[in-house]
Amino acid sequence: MKKEIRHESASFSRGQGSAVRNHRQSIRKAPPGEVLIRNRFVGIRGTDLHEYAYGPIFIPVEPHPFTKAQAPQILGHEFGGVVEAIGAGVTSVKAGDRVSVQPLIMPRVGDYYAERGLFHLSSELALAGLSWPWGGMAEYATLNEYNVQAIPDAMSDEEAALVEPTAVAVYACDRGDVKAGNSVFITGAGPIGQLTLLAARAAGAAQLFLSDLIRLISSGLLPAKKIVTKKITLDRAISQGFDALLAPGGEQIKILIDLAG
Ligand SMILES: [Zn+2]
Repeated sequence: MKKEIRHESASFSRGQGSAVRNHRQSIRKAPPGEVLIRNRFVGIRGTDLHEYAYGPIFIPVEPHPFTKAQAPQILGHEFGGVVEAIGAGVTSVKAGDRVSVQPLIMPRVGDYYAERGLFHLSSELALAGLSWPWGGMAEYATLNEYNVQAIPDAMSDEEAALVEPTAVAVYACDRGDVKAGNSVFITGAGPIGQLTLLAARAAGAAQLFLSDLIRLISSGLLPAKKIVTKKITLDRAISQGFDALLAPGGEQIKILIDLAG
């Protein structure tokens, strides 16, 4: 993620991209309660790759029941940018603020789960970049005020785009009840797996294990391997694979977080 992403035609278009571009160019003001941002960096999640290669999966082909969005969709839900304009009633950010995007969208009132703070469980849940007219892989996006969070000067634009996947990793450790001194085994060394490794370390895990294919573990694309305590090569001919690691008396792993696939 070294280059600034300012694609003019990064929409999930399947032949309908011109309609999306026209729509985007017409937006220069924020509707009431919304914020217009100029996108800076965007992460590419496996979800995006799956949508592009095999979709639509989460992208609605019929109008979404809450947002009315439907394919073609501008992808990108891990992103941040700079506020260009605010709509009437917006008070938490102003033009020029740098923001990180929290992409979940749902009814805020009259929704059983949302009213209990469990926004992600809403039956009408939508996401910017998947079921909202805008996403991170465009030059601009409009979002609800509650979807943008101003970031401090010390946080970089790249880090702003990493907030959403990092939240996934922290939540995994929270659900897994990772505590100081624990031994944690994470399967899958993709971006989420590596972020979860960092989150587990921050939670105090004493021993960290990370598994993936040997060619990935051996590559220079795996900066998180620096904090893994040791390397174990599982050989099917002489062990039972993961079962050997998890067996009582083996490495005594207390928590397994599966992030493979
Ligand atoms: Zn994500």
